[in-house]
Amino acid sequence: MFKVIRPLEEPVELKTKGYNSEKIVNTLWEMCYRKCYLCETLNPDAPEIEHKEPHENKDEDLKVDWKNLFYSCRRCNSIKGVKHKNILDVAQVDPITKIIWNMAPSNYSDVTFEKVDKQCKDKAVEDTIKLLDRCFNETGTAFRGITREALIEKIEIKLQHFLKQAYKIRHEDSDEDDIEKARKQLKVMLQNRYPYSAFWRWRFLRDPVLMREHSDLLSEYAKLSPCKK
Ligand SMILES: [Zn+2]
Repeated sequence: MFKVIRPLEEPVELKTKGYNSEKIVNTLWEMCYRKCYLCETLNPDAPEIEHKEPHENKDEDLKVDWKNLFYSCRRCNSIKGVKHKNILDVAQVDPITKIIWNMAPSNYSDVTFEKVDKQCKDKAVEDTIKLLDRCFNETGTAFRGITREALIEKIEIKLQHFLKQAYKIRHEDSDEDDIEKARKQLKVMLQNRYPYSAFWRWRFLRDPVLMREHSDLLSEYAKLSPCKK
């Protein structure tokens, strides 16, 4: 997940043409940097409009409530369904400041999530973690097994790219040019628009070498880092 900036003005088409109309879909697509707002897959094959608070086909106001609409992939939308309510509103709260994303490079093992503040009793944070755990890990049906494998494979490829840059930065044979190139690559990966950005931000924040020598790349989140600078 990642912070989004929702256009303040609600498109007039929402009330007249519905939430699946072209203008709404395109606006939400851009607002979410063309990614599923839950799993962060870029340009998912089967995109849908996701209602943060489920309308359950009976609440007409929620159906066309501009602040309730996000862009998502079919897997995340169907997992969320009507069960998961009260999750973090990423147009209001930066989820990086509330939840730690963690993926170990280890053969499709579960992705894990933790609260940034262990004492935090915010139910929205706890409910969001429950949903994320299912979005990234659930394999309950044959289709969910297949979509989960495809999702983890995409993240693993990006993880290898991240690790390669982190390695270049700390390797004794790297010269200034190598380090500068690696810094540029990491800078791109740490942006909101990059796929699975929450994982790279948290990996960066928990890397003592990167935080000691290159914390300028993620200065807005530096205070969240457990590493001493
Ligand atoms: Zn998704």
